[in-house]
Amino acid sequence: MTIVDDLKQALGDIVLTGAAVGERHRSDASLTGRDLPKAVIRPTSSEEIATALRLCNENNQSIVVQGGLTGLAGGANAGSDAVVISLERFTGIEEIDPQAGTMTVRAGTPLEVAQRAAEDAGFLLPIDLGARGTCQIGGNLATNAGGIRVLRYGVTRDNVLGLEVVLANGTVISALNKMIKNNTGYDLRQYFIGSEGTLGVITRAVLRLRPLPVGRLTALCALDSYDNVVAFLTRCQRHLPGLSAFEAMWQHYFRFNAEANRQKLFDDVPPFAVIVEQDLLGDHSERDAFEAFLGEALEDGIIFDALIAQSEKESRSFWSVREGHAMDQLLPALMNLDISLPIGEIGRFAVECGEALSARFPAAHVSFFGHVADSNLHIAFSEPDSDAETSHVVDEIVYEIVRRYKGSISAEHGIGTLKRDFLDHSRSPAELELMRRIKQALDPNGILNPGKVI
Ligand SMILES: Cc1cc2nc3c(=O)[nH]c(=O)nc-3n(C[C@H](O)[C@H](O)[C@H](O)COP(=O)(O)OP(=O)(O)OC[C@H]3O[C@@H](n4cnc5c(N)ncnc54)[C@H](O)[C@@H]3O)c2cc1C
Repeated sequence: MTIVDDLKQALGDIVLTGAAVGERHRSDASLTGRDLPKAVIRPTSSEEIATALRLCNENNQSIVVQGGLTGLAGGANAGSDAVVISLERFTGIEEIDPQAGTMTVRAGTPLEVAQRAAEDAGFLLPIDLGARGTCQIGGNLATNAGGIRVLRYGVTRDNVLGLEVVLANGTVISALNKMIKNNTGYDLRQYFIGSEGTLGVITRAVLRLRPLPVGRLTALCALDSYDNVVAFLTRCQRHLPGLSAFEAMWQHYFRFNAEANRQKLFDDVPPFAVIVEQDLLGDHSERDAFEAFLGEALEDGIIFDALIAQSEKESRSFWSVREGHAMDQLLPALMNLDISLPIGEIGRFAVECGEALSARFPAAHVSFFGHVADSNLHIAFSEPDSDAETSHVVDEIVYEIVRRYKGSISAEHGIGTLKRDFLDHSRSPAELELMRRIKQALDPNGILNPGKVI
């Protein structure tokens, strides 16, 4: 009997093989996965996941967990020798506790479904990212996803109170804590958040909910230098109590996407454009205060133009430039590099990095955008004559400069396989050794997502 036979015998028809394994299991959104796994298990309970893991562990069978497959680091790609556990059928909101302000949710639930359920109950689930319709809560936790509301509500790990996890040997650790304060020894949930499926399978989570804003105010501002971007950020943080997003676009990025969308937002394309957004928590006096705040920033020369969205549609049109979907269509072999740096260094870094990439690839598109307020910078890179080596050379150029600036080679997308060989650019030998020891303690046979992260 093979391990797949064992799995089928124990779990029945939730184990798919051969032609029943769908194409989508080949790769995450990085499109770097080449092979289909030898089997896909589609559990609907933690017990089934525990059985699968116990059997695989006894047989040294590698396991790759797949969530919504929107990851951009190759973390959910499985080789042809691997068995996949797909969480796509383990979905549903189990409880919303209005007194504790929490939601207990199964890991396979799409983020957008969880967001809607929170809204229906009068709450905000603040985890939010562009892939919301497809990515799953378990994937968000496993990658410690960032996104567009981090400035106000933190990254995913800041919004998790409890977890249920199945360990490599099939042990179920149920720690569905609902309390904000709980200092009872090691904070075990944080081992699994951001571990990209290498330490355990996340099956349930207790997420923290916040008051639902009654609306949002959005402005698109024009600035003439990165120094003013930072000065404006500091002012926004000091004077806008509901500040929930601060997104910067460098000139080339803004021009490319505004033109592709046929949007003429300013008379001249500014050196920097910033979207500022504030959650409306109370009455309309907040709108007056928002307008007055922008007026003062204009008078003081921090910004030199500002458009305030008058409708949800106009707000979405600002965001559509930032989301840059047109680039996916128009730029061949587009890379979206995801790094973070100390906020004050980002301007200098972008100049140096842009020059280094353009010197090596003179015909390439190189542009910068990012959340900035949480130190996150993205680089859009596209080389018309791209070949297999190009992305590696780009990574080497960018991550070497990141290392010098003491930044991080991954702000929010994770390490997966694509950044694994560069992890030592952002982590010391002692940190890497500790990570290996944690991996060895939790997964001694190395069956969980082998070859990923470390
Ligand atoms: C259009 C678009 C926009 C995006 N925007 C952002 C953004 O703003 N911020 C951001 O951080 N990311 C962003 N991403 C990346 C991606 O959406 C996130 O990394 C997301 O959290 C991945 O969730 P997923 O369910 O798709 O996970 P998958 O891609 O399926 O898996 C990601 C990793 O998590 C592991 N994993 C998945 N589920 C579990 C589980 N239940 N238990 C243990 N391990 C598990 C996998 O093995 C893999 O290593 C974006 C991606 C796209 C395509």
